Amino acid sequence: MRSWAGRPDSSLLAPFLAASCLLLVAGSHQEIHEATGSRIHHQTNQHTHEVHCSRERSRAAWKAIDEYLMPFVEKEKYELPSKCRLHAENDMFREQEEHKIHFDVNEWRCGFCKKSFRAEKYIDQHFSNRHNNLLDNSQGRCLADLCGALHCDLTMEFKKPKSKCNAAAAARNCHLCESLADNCFPVNQGHSASRLHEFFLRQFCDAHTCNGDSKPFPKGGRKQTNRFYLALCILTLLLLPLFYLIVFLHQREMKKGVQVFKRIPKTVHKKKPS
Ligand SMILES: [Zn+2]
Repeated sequence: MRSWAGRPDSSLLAPFLAASCLLLVAGSHQEIHEATGSRIHHQTNQHTHEVHCSRERSRAAWKAIDEYLMPFVEKEKYELPSKCRLHAENDMFREQEEHKIHFDVNEWRCGFCKKSFRAEKYIDQHFSNRHNNLLDNSQGRCLADLCGALHCDLTMEFKKPKSKCNAAAAARNCHLCESLADNCFPVNQGHSASRLHEFFLRQFCDAHTCNGDSKPFPKGGRKQTNRFYLALCILTLLLLPLFYLIVFLHQREMKKGVQVFKRIPKTVHKKKPS
């Protein structure tokens, strides 16, 4: 089987890594079920319009998916199954986020009612207050719940200082991460799915250990350099005529200077005899 980015040995290692992850996670299984159970119970007791899902963390999770997973999924021309929790349709905030128009640093506009806001936090509040009827807050649509697996802390703008690695939490995240790989890229669904399954384990799941051997996103992400190069090209095009203008003016001044120097000796020469 061909593996991602020319690493043939990684496919051989996969079963061992998966097994190690399972061993780690065995102890924390109980905790996951308890946590999930309490969440459902909590939700059913609440008013239907109250949303217990962090918009900010969901955004960070989406950013991780969009930047470090989707370029590879697109390259394989693979379609995520609708039951996959990474699918855009399973993010309750996706529709609102896509109706967020960012005009300028300090100008955000609501795509539903065209109201303007000075900062993202105000438009977020507006969405919560005015357009919350658009949220489908059904179970399994909170992307923030996947943050543990997706390394959201790395994609959030204001990172918290790194706390000490918690082995139980790492095992929980590893298990969640593997279940995402299994649901989104079932290995029996063809070559693309099995390649992406392998890729997902390397890109997101391997780093859920406390030994610090592997870093998240080792395969890289969406190319961010395009914008930078575009800006650099525009700047060069703007500065080039300015540079030639300065050179031209400088040379003209130099020529004038030489002409003046040529005249000076004559006047000096004339003055001397008198
Ligand atoms: Zn609005």
